[in-house]
Amino acid sequence: MGSRRKFLEKASVAAVGIPLLCYSSDLLASSSEPYDGRMLRVAIMGLGSYGNRVAKAMVDCEKAKLVGVISGTPSKIADWREKYDVPEKNCYNYENFDAIKDNPDIDAVYIITPNGLHCEQAIRVAEAGKHVICEKPMGINAAEGQKMVDACKAANVKLLIGYRMHFEPKTMEVIRMRMDGEFGQPKFFQGQSGFVIGDPTQWRLNKKLAGGGAMMDIGIYSINGARYMLGEEPIWVTAQETKTDPVKFKEGIDETIQFQMGFPSGAVANCLSTYAMNNLDRFFLNGSDGFAEMQPSTGYGPIKGRTHKGELTQPHITHQTLQMDGMAELIFEGKQPIVPVDGEEGVKDMKIIDAIFEAVKTGGKVEITI
Ligand code: NDP
Repeated sequence: MGSRRKFLEKASVAAVGIPLLCYSSDLLASSSEPYDGRMLRVAIMGLGSYGNRVAKAMVDCEKAKLVGVISGTPSKIADWREKYDVPEKNCYNYENFDAIKDNPDIDAVYIITPNGLHCEQAIRVAEAGKHVICEKPMGINAAEGQKMVDACKAANVKLLIGYRMHFEPKTMEVIRMRMDGEFGQPKFFQGQSGFVIGDPTQWRLNKKLAGGGAMMDIGIYSINGARYMLGEEPIWVTAQETKTDPVKFKEGIDETIQFQMGFPSGAVANCLSTYAMNNLDRFFLNGSDGFAEMQPSTGYGPIKGRTHKGELTQPHITHQTLQMDGMAELIFEGKQPIVPVDGEEGVKDMKIIDAIFEAVKTGGKVEITI
């Protein structure tokens, strides 16, 4: 743990000027005392590419700990048991994980499976009485998202969505500047989110498992980013789709969508979501008195950016480490991030995605109430 603590101690000095936000503030405040409060004991469901990244990042957490796994692949369970010292009694598969309700050593399940499975899995976790952390997109449409919110409310457990950027220091600094009026009136946001997708047989190109194409996977960053950079909820969307490879991108799997959003203040956003171009990870915010540009803006980091006042110099800390410590504070200490990461926040993005798909179909302007 020492290396992260030392880094945070340095970071807290370098970060004078970062608002100490409501999450991880104790960590950023560079206490030399080891944390001896309650740990969030997490089981990860879905030991794939991102699950591996989260598990590795959690080794450096001070308030959250990986204690269990849920997987359909016995060899991965064996591997993770050894790597992360996971006891056998905390290992489940997709058939038997409802039994987690009788396991007092697990507080939360982090769902990191294909999008189309999230809703049913989240409801089962909630019914087992455990807090739900679920990757983005929370489901494949707003109706699924709302069902998840309702199930977690009924079970009296928290539902949190894996919005790691809501814990990222440079992003938080831009949001702080916007909230303090340093950009004047926000007028325009541009978000570009994309990469070239590989293997045509992967679940991300399967409508049932993915719920859509690039929009569900990567375009959601520009949607969520537009909302936290401008600080408003959209009231209309328009969208246009381009498909150059109808074999790879079948019906219901979007390749490239350009979309626009209008906001109550008159601000507008113009965004691009694509599975057909690399080097697209850029946010630009323009206000009456200043601007912010970030590139990369949502990758694993380091995030880079500048505003009309100069370069953003806040420290890079592994996003998922900050996120999981922040989520532990949210669950046990009642702290709230500046930009929410709860189920309702997830449903807002899903409503916008639903509207974008409708706008693609109709070619018209779709009004929305978030
Ligand atoms: P992977 O394909 O790498 O892993 C998904 C895992 O889910 C599999 O390894 C498997 O684990 C499990 N799984 C269960 N059922 C299925 C099924 N029918 N088909 C395929 N896998 C199945 O995907 P990612 O880890 O990249 O993505 C998982 C989720 O995380 C998605 O919702 C994605 O949007 C999100 N994500 C978020 C990121 C972020 O930055 N916040 C970044 C990347 C992904 P097992 O063998 O253990 O059962």
